[in-house]
Amino acid sequence: MKVIFVGAGPGDPELLTVKAARLLKNCRCCIYAGSLVSPRVLALLPAKAGKHDSAALALPEIVELYRRAQKRNLNVIRLHSGDPSIYGAIREQMNELDKLGIGYEVVPGVSSFQAAAAALKTELTAPEISQTIILTRTSGRTPLPREQELDRLAQTRATLCLFLSAANLKAVVRTLAKHYGRDCPIAVVYRASWPDQRVIRGTLADIASKMAKLNIRKTAMLIVGRALNRDIPVSRLYDAAFSHGCRKGSRK
Ligand code: SAH
Repeated sequence: MKVIFVGAGPGDPELLTVKAARLLKNCRCCIYAGSLVSPRVLALLPAKAGKHDSAALALPEIVELYRRAQKRNLNVIRLHSGDPSIYGAIREQMNELDKLGIGYEVVPGVSSFQAAAAALKTELTAPEISQTIILTRTSGRTPLPREQELDRLAQTRATLCLFLSAANLKAVVRTLAKHYGRDCPIAVVYRASWPDQRVIRGTLADIASKMAKLNIRKTAMLIVGRALNRDIPVSRLYDAAFSHGCRKGSRK
C-alpha cells in the first residue's frame, strides 16, 4: 500500500498529466482538496471509488484515512491542486506517513501560475527586463520571513506570480507601485483553465478599480511585471543573425 500525491493541475482535465489521468481512472480511494480541485477532474474517478474531501478535515483525520487504507491494503490518491510542491501542505502528511511506515510518491502537475500565463498568452521572462520569476504570496495568517516580504522581493523587479493573494490586491498594488512604477502591467486570472475563467488586465494604477466591481477573492493568480508587455526587447534565440550551439547565424 502507498500514497500517491498527485498534481490535479489548474482545473481543465486535459491539463492533467497522462500519468495523473491514468491513476485517477484506476483509483479506489481518493482524498482531494475540495476547495480547489475542479469537479471536472474529480469526474474521472470511478463511481465506486472512495472519495474524501480534505477541505474540512484536520491532519489527524486525514491520517486516520491513510491508516484505514493501510489496513485494507488500498493505495490512496492524494489529489492537490496545481503542482503539489507549491503551497501543497504535503510535508506534514509525509511526516505522518513516515511515522506509520507508509511509502509515498509524487506526480507533478501543471501549476496555476503556468495556466494563468497561458490564459494571458504571455512569456513570463523577457530579455533585459526580467530573467527571474518569483512565486510568492502575501502574508495572511501564514507569516512571511521578513527578508521575503513583498517590499523586498519587489526590489528585484522580477516577474511576480502571487498565489493566495487576491483578497489583498490593494495592499499588493500599493507596495509594488513604488518599485515597478504605476504603469507596470498586472493581470488577475480567476480560475485559470476553468470554464468560467476570467482575465482582468490593467496596470498597478488601475487594477484595483477594475477589480472593485468583481468579487474575486479566491482561486485567482496575480501576475505582475513588465514582461507582460509586448513592445519590449525580444529574445535573440531565433534572430537570423544570431549564432548559438544549434545554429550558425548570418552575422560574422
Ligand atoms: N499547488 C497549487 C497552489 C495551491 S495554493 C498550484 O500549483 O497551483 C492556492 C492558490 O493557488 C489560490 O489562492 C490561487 O492563488 C492559486 N490557484 C489555484 N488554482 C488556480 C486557478 N485555476 N486559477 C488561478 N489561480 C489558482
